Amino acid sequence: MTELKTDYLIVGCGAMGMAFADTLLVETKADMVIVDRHAKPGGHWNVAYPFVRLHQPSSFFGVASRELSRFEKDKVGLNKGLYDLASGSEVSSYFDDVMQQTLMPSGRVRYFPMSDYKGDGIFTSLTGGQETKVHFKKLVDATRLTVDVPAEHTPAFSIAQGVNFMPLNDLPMLKSPPQGYVVIGSGKTGMDACLWLLQTGVNPDAIRWIMPRDSWMLPREFAQNSEEFFSETFGNQAKQLEALSAAKDINDMYDRLEAAGCVVRFDETIRPTMFHAATISQPELEALRGIKQIIRKGRVSALEVDKIILDDGVLETSPDIVHVDCSASLSRTMPQMRPKPVFEANVITPQTIRSFMPVFSGSMIAYVEAHYSDDEQKNLLCSVVPLPNSAEDFVPMTLAAMMNQFNWSQDKPLREWIRNNRLDGFTKLTSGVTPNDKEKMDILMRMRDTAPKAVGNLMKLAEQIPSPT
Ligand SMILES: Cc1cc2nc3c(=O)[nH]c(=O)nc-3n(C[C@H](O)[C@H](O)[C@H](O)COP(=O)(O)OP(=O)(O)OC[C@H]3O[C@@H](n4cnc5c(N)ncnc54)[C@H](O)[C@@H]3O)c2cc1C
Repeated sequence: MTELKTDYLIVGCGAMGMAFADTLLVETKADMVIVDRHAKPGGHWNVAYPFVRLHQPSSFFGVASRELSRFEKDKVGLNKGLYDLASGSEVSSYFDDVMQQTLMPSGRVRYFPMSDYKGDGIFTSLTGGQETKVHFKKLVDATRLTVDVPAEHTPAFSIAQGVNFMPLNDLPMLKSPPQGYVVIGSGKTGMDACLWLLQTGVNPDAIRWIMPRDSWMLPREFAQNSEEFFSETFGNQAKQLEALSAAKDINDMYDRLEAAGCVVRFDETIRPTMFHAATISQPELEALRGIKQIIRKGRVSALEVDKIILDDGVLETSPDIVHVDCSASLSRTMPQMRPKPVFEANVITPQTIRSFMPVFSGSMIAYVEAHYSDDEQKNLLCSVVPLPNSAEDFVPMTLAAMMNQFNWSQDKPLREWIRNNRLDGFTKLTSGVTPNDKEKMDILMRMRDTAPKAVGNLMKLAEQIPSPT
């Protein structure tokens, strides 16, 4: 067995592992070994569907040391007028560049693709079969949020022989139009499949969309981090804090957030029960609303040649209808996850420490690892912000994120580092506001004055959430 020595053994070369490694490289002199099952860096982006794009502007995705955005607004399409969303192939080639141009040339990073980590510092090559033992000072488990994707997962329902079934990855390989489509899953992947079908000319009436749960979504119009969008983006954050301060219960919270334009839903007559932080533009939402055959009969339990069995009913189908699998979701594994601190003895487990921002989180965890020595203090700065699944999860998620933000604001060097990190996206804009810019100052004052009230009220709302049985 080959033996290696390193400071940090990083398991997982997805966005989280890379954002961590990139910042650790800049902030320390440490040596690293990175191991991943995939052939190339970038994790699930290796197997994403061909028409995938980021859901957020590219300007705050990736690693801290390398730009991803072209800083161009889309001129056509459903993201028109908003900043560029990198395509899947752009994201993949970006992560490859990070590895080839930044991490490996440093001489401090050794990368082992096609390698399965078995535990105890041992990994096996998936091509040659040989085992390698790594002696490390710290293990970084960057696999905690491993994304479950349609191309790789096993659906949680049975599929009879003869059913025309495919992950959304295979849609572009269709050679002739089927009689219709059944899209299974109402998360962001399901939305992407529906939008792609509509954009390629499918009549909305030819799509039946199985929507086990409706979802609250975030308008992408308010996630634009440039000067030009200052009033929209930060005005929206001020409105969000005002809604959170005043809400009497969770339904009232969503009503207020919706009235303020901070969240949207597919059908305004149905109260969503899911929140996965999907981000959507208004034109995308309008396009999806053109699909009228929405099947709200729970989850699929079996796909048969002539019928689809759901929790609450049966749907007719046929072999001429394409069934599109969009049912992969982290929420299937999430409930089984035991809470885990980021720093625990010689194991670091990168997780989200700011809502919707896995890569910023990976980068900041590396910064904290480099500059603080006490695990208690490190975990205080890097308290885990739980991933949302149900609608009410918005409350603990936002509360944890706001507490972290407060703790960070008390630490001057950290505050400064955050401001200069491209993955933060927003702080640079607020810190550049001068007192004579009245409109912007008014927005910032509203945010500053409402934040403590919002935290206080979120604590009350959190008490209304029944604890899991
Ligand atoms: C379609 C889609 C679009 C998204 N868009 C955005 C977006 O716009 N913005 C955003 O912030 N987030 C987005 N996300 C969410 C997600 O957090 C990011 O995509 C991010 O890339 C996930 O990175 P990760 O490293 O946590 O997970 P992964 O990409 O899943 O990486 C984990 C890696 O660990 C490896 N691994 C696991 N176990 C082992 C083992 N035993 N041995 C070796 N290797 C192992 C896997 O091979 C994998 O490469 C999106 C997700 C999806 C599915």
